[in-house]
Order: sequence, then C-alpha cells, then structure tokens
Amino acid sequence: MTQQQSLIDLLACPKCRGKLTHEAQPEGFVCAACRLFYAVDDGLPNMLIDDAKPWPLPGKETTG
Ligand SMILES: [Zn+2]
Repeated sequence: MTQQQSLIDLLACPKCRGKLTHEAQPEGFVCAACRLFYAVDDGLPNMLIDDAKPWPLPGKETTG
C-alpha cells in the first residue's frame, strides 16, 4: 500500500470522471477514454483540462 496508489484512487478525469492511469515517464496521469495526459508538476497533478496534452504524447510512439 503506497501513498501514491491512494492518490490515484482519489483522482478522476475532470472531463469524463473516468479512471486515470499513472505514467512514470513523463510523470502524469492518462485518461484512456479522453486520450488526455495530465502532467504532474512539482509533485502535484495538474488536472486542468486546458493544460492537458493529447495522448499519446508526440514522439512517444516513434520506434527506436
Ligand atoms: Zn476522461
């Protein structure tokens, strides 16, 4: 049981209220339904839809 796990339980996508997946690199939370990435800024998740980035992030799909 980690503190981070309980934090994820508290978090929900502000757009669809769906479950989020934690990403380690870069650190943030992903809503698979909305395909949005909410970055963690200074240890605090930025859950603003306006600040969310499209998921997958550019460059992450490239092979090699
Ligand atoms: Zn969502």
